[in-house]
Amino acid sequence: MTAEVEISVRGPEAYILARRAVEQMEAHQVWPTPLNFELWLHYVGNPEGALGQEIQALLKAGETIIDSVSEMLAHKHLPRFRLNDEIRDAGDRLSAQLESVARAVETAQRSSAAYGKTLDGAQRQLDDAVEPLALQRLVEGLSVATQRVQRENATLQDRLQSSTEEVRRLREHLEQVRRDAMTDALTNLANRKAFDEGLNKFCQEAEGAGRTVTLAVIDIDHFKRFNDTWGHQTGDQVLRYVANVIGRVGEPPRLAARYGGEEFAILFPGERAAKVAKMLDGVREEISSRLLKRRSTHENLGAVTVSMGVAELHAGEPPASLVERADAALYVSKRTGRNRVTNAELARKSAVQAA
Ligand code: GH3
Ligand code: MG
Ligand code: MG
Repeated sequence: MTAEVEISVRGPEAYILARRAVEQMEAHQVWPTPLNFELWLHYVGNPEGALGQEIQALLKAGETIIDSVSEMLAHKHLPRFRLNDEIRDAGDRLSAQLESVARAVETAQRSSAAYGKTLDGAQRQLDDAVEPLALQRLVEGLSVATQRVQRENATLQDRLQSSTEEVRRLREHLEQVRRDAMTDALTNLANRKAFDEGLNKFCQEAEGAGRTVTLAVIDIDHFKRFNDTWGHQTGDQVLRYVANVIGRVGEPPRLAARYGGEEFAILFPGERAAKVAKMLDGVREEISSRLLKRRSTHENLGAVTVSMGVAELHAGEPPASLVERADAALYVSKRTGRNRVTNAELARKSAVQAA
């Protein structure tokens, strides 16, 4: 989804937007298939965007939106489809390059085999020919054959070089597509998919090495109220600000991700929860003491606060349970007044002591 629509379908206007999409579909006799609904959601969310304009043009021209038209629109405009297309195109171009290299190598092999034959023939002729004229012709023939092989080698080299360049470009492009697929568009942090992969990978490595991994979940406090007061776009700026602070926490290989709407998560491989909780308390403090200003009007927005939950992986524990415990710790922070960090491991210890 485009960033704007992604935001508005999880914001206060979500249901209005959804209703408008269905109304529009009905008015234009478009079946409410899941794909059409997705397209129309984008259209009503951003009528002036490229997709919106194309749909308007189609409707104006009296075009019936049959499935093949919807699919064409989806492939052209929905990032989810475009990504697949791009990967397929890059794959196709890569195969074409490799084929062309294979053909060039084949040609070169054939011509050097022919060259070998020419040399063989010359050898035989040399054995019995001593006449100057015959010798001269022999040398001329050899020189022509040599030149041809040289030319073909040069062509082969050129082709290999441009193929190598093209393959390098394709590899970079694929790398970029892969990065985009793992990145949250609004905040530039890792997205949920990247987080899920990182969580499984770090937990596995930790189990293997007998180490731990600490997970912190972070949620902006009363963010709905903030959006309702200052609007979604300003809310987005705050999301970017908080993401920026979170992205600077700790050192790689820690992984900071946007977990969902206004929730973030950070994985700290090899770190204990106590140390992470202490460091994050500094981050919490930094965020809560920063007075925010609206970029366009410099209006004073006050400060936002965040609540956090921290938990470390216990031996033999599945990743999902680590997430659950970190979430539960976050919930404790929310329940006990927000703007605080709760360490699940300490909560456990004191519960054990109390018992
Ligand atoms: P709590 O302190 O309990 O977390 O309260 P809250 O209002 O932050 O939590 P709630 O889950 O009720 O609401 C989350 C809000 O976050 C709702 C939605 O408006 C906002 N939100 C989620 N994603 C985005 C986004 O991408 N952009 C903006 N601007 N707001 C978002
Ligand atoms: Mg919240
Ligand atoms: Mg939340």
